[in-house]
Amino acid sequence: MTTTEQKAPFLNLYQVKHVADTACRACVLCYKPTNTVLITTDKKDWFYVCNIHLKDKTYAKLLYCNDMGKDTEAEWKGKCNDIAKLKQELHKIEKEEKEKLDKEKSWLNNIPSWSSNKKDQAVEEKEKNEEVKEEKTKETLQSELKHNENELKTFERANIKYRLEKVFYRGRLMQDYKKKKQVEIEKKLAEGTLFPTLDGLSTLKK
Ligand SMILES: [Zn+2]
Repeated sequence: MTTTEQKAPFLNLYQVKHVADTACRACVLCYKPTNTVLITTDKKDWFYVCNIHLKDKTYAKLLYCNDMGKDTEAEWKGKCNDIAKLKQELHKIEKEEKEKLDKEKSWLNNIPSWSSNKKDQAVEEKEKNEEVKEEKTKETLQSELKHNENELKTFERANIKYRLEKVFYRGRLMQDYKKKKQVEIEKKLAEGTLFPTLDGLSTLKK
């Protein structure tokens, strides 16, 4: 046992996976059945936990990073901002459309019965063109928004991670240590050593 800097057996960086409802197991905290699994990005530790505990900051902290632990929160914020801007633009267009429609309605209501419905040809043509132009812009914005929202979902699936609070991470490490120690003991017993020595066992990092 010469290593002073012992590496943790797994990172404190978990991501969420959902198993089928038929594969539910008891939550490690409250024992209610859950289909949510937290698994480390290196896939070395995993356990069942209710979704609701993940919202509790005293249990775990949500962060945005890739599997290597590189912070991607700025990227996430940028994507959210782009979506907010698109929504704003769309809202503006829709508001203008509504105002225009309201104006047209009130104009129609006030029209004297003897006047001609025929608009000036040039004006009509111009309005038609504007409508086409506006609709195109709206459609483009809508499809851009849909695309960006899908992209955000994919990004979040890959980048949302959880870091357990120290005491809970320590609990995971302790459990891992106990499990490994048990395996080592069983192995030594199976090898036929009547009085197993524990000298060769790894120690838990303090
Ligand atoms: Zn629970």
